[in-house]
Amino acid sequence: MTEERWPGSWYELKAGKGCGMCANRGLEDSGWGVRFLEGGHADVFLGRSGVVRGYAVAIWKHGHVVEPTELPADQAAGFWLETLRAGAAIEGHLRPLKLNYLTLGNALPHLHTHIVPRFADDPFPGRPLPFDFLDDGRQPEERLQADVLALRAMVDAAAP
Ligand SMILES: [Zn+2]
Repeated sequence: MTEERWPGSWYELKAGKGCGMCANRGLEDSGWGVRFLEGGHADVFLGRSGVVRGYAVAIWKHGHVVEPTELPADQAAGFWLETLRAGAAIEGHLRPLKLNYLTLGNALPHLHTHIVPRFADDPFPGRPLPFDFLDDGRQPEERLQADVLALRAMVDAAAP
């Protein structure tokens, strides 16, 4: 059995070289998803990819940061609170059974948190959703745009 290693390209990404999340900073539509929360610390996108309705990603928006521990406490708290504001909007709009928050960065090491709604009929009860399932397929565009509008309205209504 050959020993697997993190590829050299990953170390470059970790250093911010070729980071797609840095490149997409400021976009309202990243291709992967459409922004519904523009925060002071995070931008949160509703995913166009995948079949799970309401799957979103909160992305740190000020420069290339890998670990939340790199941030001063007020910025780390700000990122998390905005991620929760997005989560609350998804709860209000889609009423999932459970929300999962995943801060991984193993494939793209730029601070981001996946917000994954879990519904009663999803095929992995009691377990995390595998990413090959999460990323498989595509949201119907019309419904996605309608969900973005609904989530923006909920975020605005809940704004401090
Ligand atoms: Zn980056």
